Amino acid sequence: MEAVETAELRHFREEVREWLHANKPRETRPEADFAAQRAFDRAWQRTKFDGGWAGIAWPPEYGGRGLSPTQQLIWSEEYAAAHCPPVTDSCWLGQNHAGPTLIHRGDEAQKAFHLPRIQNGEAAWCQGFSEPNAGSDLAGLTTRGEVDGEHLVVNGQKIWTSFGHLCDYQELLIRTGPPGGRHRGLTWVICDMTSPGLTVRPIQALDGLYHNCEVFYDDVRIPLSNVVGEIDQGWSVTMTTFGFERGPATFGLLCKVFIELEDLIAYARAAPPAVGAGLDEDAALTERLGFARAQAQALRALMYQMVSLDIAGEPPGSEGSLMRLAFSEWRQTVTRLGLDLRGAAALSRGQAPATTAEYLESFAETIQGGTAEIQRNIIGERLLGLPR
Ligand SMILES: Cc1cc2nc3c(=O)[nH]c(=O)nc-3n(C[C@H](O)[C@H](O)[C@H](O)COP(=O)(O)OP(=O)(O)OC[C@H]3O[C@@H](n4cnc5c(N)ncnc54)[C@H](O)[C@@H]3O)c2cc1C
Repeated sequence: MEAVETAELRHFREEVREWLHANKPRETRPEADFAAQRAFDRAWQRTKFDGGWAGIAWPPEYGGRGLSPTQQLIWSEEYAAAHCPPVTDSCWLGQNHAGPTLIHRGDEAQKAFHLPRIQNGEAAWCQGFSEPNAGSDLAGLTTRGEVDGEHLVVNGQKIWTSFGHLCDYQELLIRTGPPGGRHRGLTWVICDMTSPGLTVRPIQALDGLYHNCEVFYDDVRIPLSNVVGEIDQGWSVTMTTFGFERGPATFGLLCKVFIELEDLIAYARAAPPAVGAGLDEDAALTERLGFARAQAQALRALMYQMVSLDIAGEPPGSEGSLMRLAFSEWRQTVTRLGLDLRGAAALSRGQAPATTAEYLESFAETIQGGTAEIQRNIIGERLLGLPR
């Protein structure tokens, strides 16, 4: 399956391909050293910025490239095909939803200060929405912000903050209205991660690495000028953020796994496993690979549909949940196939491709950004019209 490409788009694809091959980092992203990881991400973002490839979806008046949805898709396909560094690094969130949220909902001072820093890689952003008792039920969050003069004084705790230990700013959602006010009385505020009273504690994941953090707020003072939108009106700003988080920004990861599957198929053709863990015979392996590729085709069709909706200026609606659900479960299928195919060789650390790391990481896929059960609820209620 291929999207229709005009001569102009083909030329654009060539331009992207050439630039990526000439400029992508030659070394791999460091695994364990936080400072080295941040330095790597910052340098790669700076390279993209200098080359005019930062903020590809951002409007030019904010330093972006203002690419069309089709061009963004081409960028994602070529980025994955060139085996560039992981798309979801410490600069991802600023580029893909904190920055776009500020563009749409921030005031001029917030835009003028933050957008250039996000673009050139100087500032990395994380998201402080989930709490120990408020994940799927985000409106149940209790981290409190009290207005005191020109500041909000914040107390409480967030959890699962991706890259919290590497980031400079956080999109922080707090309760400023009465307790129990659900979606009302929430405020979306920019939090400086170096604020006094703020403590970041990294969490070790299944793969032994640190992707997420707990963040504690003990009388953290945040200037009122950091509120995005209005005090107590943060739910609507959050919906703007989710619109970007669940939209075309996900295509980068999707394209990466398309490539990983094709690499696996090539590997299976070249070197059929002598003893495949969990595989009785090659026919079973062939069937699993074939099924995974059929799923990839369906996901690609869904991705093109989302691009078409985007071109038509229509919101993605429940397609975002269909995509999220199908992708998260399919990624787990592909990473499991990788492990079974490569066998014991996949188990040693530092392997390229990072089969085991990808497999362990894929467990998070059906949790982060809304669990598989929550996506099914959304599809059932909004797409199929089933009762709540
Ligand atoms: C790798 C990773 C990265 C993350 N990054 C961030 C981040 O950067 N910032 C951030 O704010 N958060 C982040 N999260 C948190 C993530 O958004 C939450 O973990 C997720 O929303 C689920 O919330 P929870 O963990 O509280 O689980 P719960 O909401 O407590 O869910 C527990 C179980 O109950 C099920 N369940 C809950 N409600 C329903 C329902 N109504 N119907 C059916 N089943 C239900 C869930 O599906 C799940 O199986 C991340 C999580 C992971 C795993």
